[in-house]
Amino acid sequence: MMRRSALFLGSVPVMKNLINGKLVESKATKFFDIYNPATGEVIAKTPQSTPEELHQALEGCVEAQKTWAEVSVPNRVRVMLNYQKLIRDHTDELAKLITMEQGKTLNDAAGDVFRGLEVVEHTASMGSLLMGETLENVSSHMDTYSFRYPLGVTAGICPFNFPAMCCLWMFPVAVTAGNSMLVKPSEKVPHTAMRLGELALEAGLPAGIVNMVHGGPDTVNFICDAEPIRAISFVGGNSAGDYIYQRGAANGKRVQANCGAKNHCIIMPDADKEQAINAVIGAACGACGQRCMALSVAILVGEAKEWLPEICAKAAELKPDVGTKNPPFGPIITKQARDRAIKLIDDSEKQGAKVLVDGRKCSVEGFPNGFWIGSSVVADVTTDMPCYQEELFAPVLAVITADSLDEGLDIISKNPYGNGAAIFTQSGAAARKFQHEVAAGQIGINVPIPVPLPMFSFTGSRKSFRGENHFYGKMGVNFYTDTKTIVSNWNPNNAKKSKVMTDFPIFKQ
Ligand code: NAD
Repeated sequence: MMRRSALFLGSVPVMKNLINGKLVESKATKFFDIYNPATGEVIAKTPQSTPEELHQALEGCVEAQKTWAEVSVPNRVRVMLNYQKLIRDHTDELAKLITMEQGKTLNDAAGDVFRGLEVVEHTASMGSLLMGETLENVSSHMDTYSFRYPLGVTAGICPFNFPAMCCLWMFPVAVTAGNSMLVKPSEKVPHTAMRLGELALEAGLPAGIVNMVHGGPDTVNFICDAEPIRAISFVGGNSAGDYIYQRGAANGKRVQANCGAKNHCIIMPDADKEQAINAVIGAACGACGQRCMALSVAILVGEAKEWLPEICAKAAELKPDVGTKNPPFGPIITKQARDRAIKLIDDSEKQGAKVLVDGRKCSVEGFPNGFWIGSSVVADVTTDMPCYQEELFAPVLAVITADSLDEGLDIISKNPYGNGAAIFTQSGAAARKFQHEVAAGQIGINVPIPVPLPMFSFTGSRKSFRGENHFYGKMGVNFYTDTKTIVSNWNPNNAKKSKVMTDFPIFKQ
C-alpha cells in the first residue's frame, strides 16, 4: 500500500518525516526494513533521520509551542474534538495499516485504534484536569493559588505492538496541556503513526506542535540529549526503557517509561471454569501474545490443576492466519522474534518443561514466508526456566501449579515485573486478598486484561515502569505540566504597617 508519507528507494517506499506540517523526504543513508509479517515481504523502509533533520524538527517544536501555549484551553480541546471525530471516521483505514505492518487481526487493530481514541476523547476534560488549587486567607489578607503550566517541548518514543494506541497515549495529552511533542514512531510500524500525525494536522493542530521523526537508537539518543526537550514518554522493552530513563534523567528530563512485563493469573478451584479458561487462553494468545498485558503465566491452584487438558484443548483450537481474515491471531512481528520465542521454549524443554501444545512448527497455507508461530502451552514450568524468566511476546502460556493462593501470590511477588495480574475465583475473600497483596499495578478480578480507561492511569509497577507519573489520566497531566504556586498579599493597610522582615516568613495571623 503506497502512502503519501513515503518516497521510494528502488521499488520500496521510504517513510517521510513530518516536520512543521509537511511530509519531508529524508536524506538518510541508513534504513530499517518494515515487513508485512504475514507475507514476510519488505513493504517499506524507515530512514535513520539525519542530525540536521532532527534539529529542524526540534526547532519547529520549540517555535510552534510558544504560540500554542497561549491558545486558550477550550480552543486546544476543540482541536482534539475534531481529532477524535477524524480518528473515528478513519478507524477502518487505520486498522488496515496496522494489520499490514504489524500483523494483528483487523478486529484487534480496530481495538488498538479505539483504546487510543479513548485517550483523545478524555482530553475533552483537560479544562478540569488543568485546574490548580486555591486557599483564601492563609494569613490575613493573603491567599495562595496554583496554576498548571505546559513544560514546553516533550518527546514520545513508541513501540511496535500498539501502533495506534501507544502513540495516542502520548501526544494528545501532551499537546492539549499546551506542549509540543517530537514523536519517534517505532521503526517497525511507522505508517500508522504517520497517518495519525496527518489526521492531527487535518483536525487543526498547528504545524510543528507534533513533529514526527524516524529512526532507531540515533534518534532516541538525540531525544535523550536535546536540551529543549523537558520530558520523554517511552513505551517499549526494558533494555531500551531502562537506558532511556537513565540517559534522559541524567540530562535533567522527566521520563515516564512503560516497560516489559510477565503477567500472571491465578486460577482458583472455585472459578467459573469455562470463563476462566476462555479468558486465559484469549489473553495469552491474542495479538500473537504481543501485548504488554498478555497473560503469559497461569498458576493453577489446588484442583484447578485438573483443568490442564481443557486449557490445552482450548489453546490448540486457536490457529494463526493472515490478519485480514480475522483469525484468532496473526503472525509475530519478525523472524527474529519468532526464532527467539522458539529458542526460549526449546531451552525450557531441555530443563524439563513439557510442551503440551506446540506451536513451534507452524505454517499458514498460501503464506510460506510469513512469521508464524502457533499457540503453545508449556507445563511443569519452574521459575528458573527461560520461558518464565524472559518476556516471550509470543502466543505461549507457561503453566505452574500451586497448592494455595498464598503460594501463588508468593510466586508473583518474586517475579520482578509488575504490569498486571489477574485472579479467577468466585470467592470475594480470595479476590480481596489478591487485590490487596498481589505485587502488580493493574489487577483483574475475573478480567484477564485489566487495562484502565483514561479517567484512570496506566499503573504498571516495579520493573514494568520507570518514573513517577503514569501515562494518561490525572497522572498523565501531572507529567506534562509544571505547577506554579502564588502567595499574594493584598492588605489595604500594608503601606502603613510595612517594615523590613529578615526572619523566614510564617503566616501567623
Ligand atoms: P523496544 O524496546 O524494542 O522498542 C521501543 C522503542 O525503543 C522503539 O521506538 C525503538 O526504536 C527504541 N529502541 C529499541 N532499542 C533501542 C536502543 N537500544 N536504544 C535506543 N532506543 C531503542 O520495544 P518493542 O519491541 O517495540 O515493543 C515491545 C515491548 O514493549 C515489550 O517489552 C512490551 O512489554 C513493551 N510494551 C510495554 C507497554 C506498557 O505499557 N508497559 C505497552 C506496550 C509495549
